[in-house]
Amino acid sequence: MKIGIIGTGYVGLPTGVGLANLGHQVVCVDKIQAKIDSLNAGQLTIYEDGLAEMFERNRTAGRLSFTCSMQQAVSGADIVIIAVGTPPHPVTHEADLQYIYAAAAELAEHLTNYTVVATKSTVPVGTGDKVEEIIRTHNPTARFDVISLPEFLREGFALHDFFHPDRIVIGTNSPQAAAVMQKLYKPFADKTKILQVSRRSSETIKYASNAFLAMKIHYINEMADFCEKAGADVAEVARGMGLDARIGSRFLNAGIGFGGSCFPKDTMAMAYMGRQFKSPLELIETTISGNTQRKVRMAERVLAAVKDMPQAKIAVWGLAFKNGTDDCRQSPAMEIIAELLKYQAHITAYDPQAMANARMLLGDKIAYAPDMYTAAQNADVLVILTEWPQFAAADLAKLAQQMKHKILLDFRNMLDGSKATDLGFNYQRIGKKY
Ligand code: NAD
Repeated sequence: MKIGIIGTGYVGLPTGVGLANLGHQVVCVDKIQAKIDSLNAGQLTIYEDGLAEMFERNRTAGRLSFTCSMQQAVSGADIVIIAVGTPPHPVTHEADLQYIYAAAAELAEHLTNYTVVATKSTVPVGTGDKVEEIIRTHNPTARFDVISLPEFLREGFALHDFFHPDRIVIGTNSPQAAAVMQKLYKPFADKTKILQVSRRSSETIKYASNAFLAMKIHYINEMADFCEKAGADVAEVARGMGLDARIGSRFLNAGIGFGGSCFPKDTMAMAYMGRQFKSPLELIETTISGNTQRKVRMAERVLAAVKDMPQAKIAVWGLAFKNGTDDCRQSPAMEIIAELLKYQAHITAYDPQAMANARMLLGDKIAYAPDMYTAAQNADVLVILTEWPQFAAADLAKLAQQMKHKILLDFRNMLDGSKATDLGFNYQRIGKKY
């Protein structure tokens, strides 16, 4: 099949690479010329595990191409996938749909044959109706169906999730569109549940899923605070809870609060929809405010650890919103740093992949170290904010020698606390008092 993908970001690019790898002819379009130039020069614009090799293989095989021309991506396509951003509106926090609507208007005139226009971006209920209306207005004779095709991939595991999805949700009542999509996903049909629902249900499934996961994280974070006060260990509690199949063990890692480009904006957009439809979503509202507070409280813990040390040097390990990605958008690590900077903190940070993106956001407000040990050199406190595996393997004895004051705030619960305390560290983690 010929597939056009609009938007070559964290969703569009891995999706395009994955579909090309299945043998489809994929043309990705983006409006940012520099991204397209880079991709055409064989240079990836995002970091994702395993993406580089598959990208190069399919590009050289001629199945995957990149352009700024909407026409090249859309005309003759069997499926056009919209994967543009839906950021939060700066004032209302609802999903800002300007990029979706612009893409719909731009693609309309290039529809030639019958085409399935699939919205993969996360969009509020009813967006499909509007996209359909825009395309119809711009091209009254076009033959197309607009479907909802929510994306559930996790950054850092995008390719894994593309090839091994928990489920595929197709939101359409059109038999013709459903047939095209069943054909596309035939290679997955044996091992993956393919769920066909109405477009509005599909749009809701995405938000309801993300809001639920965000609530689960917030729940275990509240339990962690409780455990610290009550003398329990949240890791043991989470293990015990997770063994219950009704609860499940995933998303029960207590930490510094959820972040990234999805959960914060999607919970806000869902809460907005609740207000819009006069159907209050109080659990989600509470999750949002609790999660915002959590990052402030984490910063307060850092400041408390160095309160008697003027000009304290704070080392930070981790800037990305989670491991496996260079994405710093709404990273809790960045938000904690921003909070610390309000108190003129001196911060030296290291992240294996996200330094360039962090530098774009923070500039010279903090110092950047070339490796994790250099970041900790002469530091008064070391704070771990992203769960990169190499941090778990840190040489604690080496750190003990390097740091000025041996204060270790392991906010990702990665290190061996007993070993750290044996080495003389003031060691703190989330959800267990040492
Ligand atoms: P992104 O910002 O990384 O990428 C969006 C891309 O679309 C950008 O490169 C932008 O230049 C391009 N674009 C915007 N308007 C365009 C137009 N008219 N024509 C061509 N290109 C255009 O965004 P993302 O993280 O890939 O997210 C895309 C959507 O997928 C969002 O709705 C998001 O909520 C959703 N989503 C994201 C993830 C994730 O992990 N990032 C997971 C699931 C769903």
